[in-house]
Amino acid sequence: MNKLSGEEDQVGSSALEKPTCPYCEQRATTTLVDETFTYGSGEGAVELNVRLPVRHCEACDFHFIDQVGERIRTEAVYRHHGLLTPWEIRAIRESRRLSRAAFAEITGLGEATIKRWETGAITQNRANDRYLRLLNDDTCWSALKRLVAPKSEPPPARAASTHRSRSTTSAPPAAAASP
Ligand SMILES: [Zn+2]
Repeated sequence: MNKLSGEEDQVGSSALEKPTCPYCEQRATTTLVDETFTYGSGEGAVELNVRLPVRHCEACDFHFIDQVGERIRTEAVYRHHGLLTPWEIRAIRESRRLSRAAFAEITGLGEATIKRWETGAITQNRANDRYLRLLNDDTCWSALKRLVAPKSEPPPARAASTHRSRSTTSAPPAAAASP
C-alpha cells in the first residue's frame, strides 16, 4: 500500500537524478539547503520549512532550484493544509491499476477533475481529500466496487464492460486527455 504520510525524504530518490545546467547543460552539483518560506498572506501567513536541493553549475557559476525543489515546496504547502499531494493522489489511482477514465467510472469523480488534482492544477476540498484516503483502503475500495456493481442479473454486455475496466492497466498518465 502507498505511503500517505510521506515526509520530506519522499522526494529523496528523485533528488538523486543528475541535474544539468539550463544554460550550458553541464552537470551541476547539489547542495541541500534549509529554506523557510512564507506561505499565504496577512494573518493567515505561515512559515514553512523545507530542505531544498540547490544546484550549482561550476562552469557558469549559476545556482538554481529545479523541478525537484519546486515539488518539495509544493508538497510542504499541501502538508500544511493536511491534504494529499498531487503525487499521492495519482499513486492511489495507480495502485488500483486504473486509467483515469476507469477510476472515474468507479468513484463517481470527474475524469477531468482527477487529472487536475493529480497535476496540481486545482486542489481537492476536504471532503474529497477524505474520500480519496478511503479509496486507498482495501476494505473501502471493495465496498465501493460492490456498491457500483450491477445490481441483479446484469446483461452480458454490462458484465463484459466491467471486466474491461478492471483489466485496464496503468495507461501512461501523461497528457492523454484534454487540457
Ligand atoms: Zn552552466
